[in-house]
Amino acid sequence: MDAQNFLHELVGSMSQGATGNPTVAMVEAAFRHHDLHWRYVNMEVPPPALADAVRGARALGFRGFNLSMPHKVAVIPHLDGLGESAALIGAVNCVVRRGEKLIGENTDGKGFLKSLQEVCNPRGKNVVMFGAGGAARAVAVEVGLVGAKHVTVVNRSEARGRELVDTLRKAKLDAGFLPWHGDYAIPAGTDIVINATSIGLYDAAARLGLDLTSLTPDMVVADVVFNPSQTRLLRDAAARGCRTIDGLGMLVNQGVIGVRYWTGVDPDPAAMRRALEEVM
Ligand code: NDP
Repeated sequence: MDAQNFLHELVGSMSQGATGNPTVAMVEAAFRHHDLHWRYVNMEVPPPALADAVRGARALGFRGFNLSMPHKVAVIPHLDGLGESAALIGAVNCVVRRGEKLIGENTDGKGFLKSLQEVCNPRGKNVVMFGAGGAARAVAVEVGLVGAKHVTVVNRSEARGRELVDTLRKAKLDAGFLPWHGDYAIPAGTDIVINATSIGLYDAAARLGLDLTSLTPDMVVADVVFNPSQTRLLRDAAARGCRTIDGLGMLVNQGVIGVRYWTGVDPDPAAMRRALEEVM
C-alpha cells in the first residue's frame, strides 16, 4: 500500500439515533484540506454501551471523539479529567487524548463565543439568553467566564432555569432567572440577545416568544440553531437593524476547536463551513 494511504489516527463521534451527522463531512473536510491522514468516524452508541465504547476508543488508540446527547453527561465518570468549562457546565461534547488520559472538554460554548467575539466583545455586556438546556449552559458559562456583566436566563421550565443560574452564581458569575410567559420584552440596556433553545430547529417559520418591538439596532442577536441558519428570529432581528450571528458559525467554530485539540493543526474554518453547507 502507498505510504500516503496508511491510516495514521482516528477520532470519532458517539451519537445515539443520529439521522446523519453533518459534523462528519465538516471534520473530514478539515483533515483533507490540511493533508492529514486522519479519519473521523460516526459511531452509533446506545446508552448502556457507552462505558464499553469509551474503553474501546482507548484500546484502539483514538485521539478523541465528540459526543451528542444523551452521552454528554453520562460520559463524565468514564474520563480521566475535565477542562474548566466542561466541569462547570457539567457536560462534555469533545474528548481529547492527552498522553494516556482522556480529558473531557466542552467546545459548544467556546464555538459560540468565537462567533460572538467576531462581532462584539461580551466583556462588561448585559446578556439576555432564552433557554437553559445543554447548549444554553455551555453558552452562559463561556460568556460569563469572559466577563459578561450580567446574564439573564429566560426559560420555560423554572427548575431548569434556576439550576443554570445557581451554576453561574457558584462560579461567581452575575446571573438572574426570569420565567418565560408570553412575549418577553427585552429590557433597555441589553447588549446581547441569544436564543439557546431548540425553537426554530428544522422550522424556518417557528417563532420565539419575544416582543420584537423591544429589539433595538444597538443589540446583537444570536441563535444557536444551525438548520436553517437564517432562523425567523435572525430574520426579524435583522429587519429591526440588529447585527445577527447564526448557529452555523458556532457549529463550525466548535469543530475548529475540536480539530485543533486533536491534531494541533489550526484548521481553515472556510473549508469546514463549505463542507457543512454542502451536506445541509
Ligand atoms: P435541550 O433539550 O437540552 O434544551 C432545549 C431548550 O429549549 C430548553 O431550554 C427548553 O426549555 C427550550 N425549549 C424547547 N422547546 C421549547 C418551546 N416550545 N418553548 C419554550 N422553550 C422551549 O437542547 P440543547 O440545549 O442540547 O439544544 C438546543 C439547541 O441548540 C438545538 O437546536 C441544537 O441543535 C442547538 N445546538 C447548536 C449547536 C451549534 O454548534 N450551533 C451546538 C449544540 C446545540 P425547557 O427547559 O422549558 O424544556
